[in-house]
Amino acid sequence: MRIGFGLDRHRLAAGRRCVLGGVFFADSPVGPVGHSDGDAVCHAAADAILGAAALGDIGQHFPDTDPRYGGADSLELLAEAAARVRAAGWRTVNLDLTVMTEKPHLAAHKAAMAANLARALAIDAALVSVKATRGEGVGPEGRGEAVTVHAVALLEPVKNDFDAD
Ligand code: MG
Repeated sequence: MRIGFGLDRHRLAAGRRCVLGGVFFADSPVGPVGHSDGDAVCHAAADAILGAAALGDIGQHFPDTDPRYGGADSLELLAEAAARVRAAGWRTVNLDLTVMTEKPHLAAHKAAMAANLARALAIDAALVSVKATRGEGVGPEGRGEAVTVHAVALLEPVKNDFDAD
């Protein structure tokens, strides 16, 4: 088994489309700033699985200097990261995330975010946990200036037909 950690933070700004964990928050007054769609949930998840497989980080795989990733759907980047992790011989056992942000309010959408992440990872939704916390008015998250996501993933080797039990 291998464990990996991912951390991502994006600045929040008015007028930015707000997508987190692949969920579009139409009513959010702010959204994450980024070269891609800024979906820090997907980015932290990708770094956790890439880290567990020792395959580097999301910036190496999908450089933000590459125009192909301008406005990219980060769920697709996560799915591609998961494909590269699988190609290296690893399967995701589970993924656990904590999202810190003052806005938007995530509580009603955590299950939808988990389902999106699970689909990108090609695993059961019950294996993905999305937790939300606010910043208690302090720090960049508490002041509503940023969204920060911490993610932990566990991987196990993919067994092939030739492996003995
Ligand atoms: Mg990011």
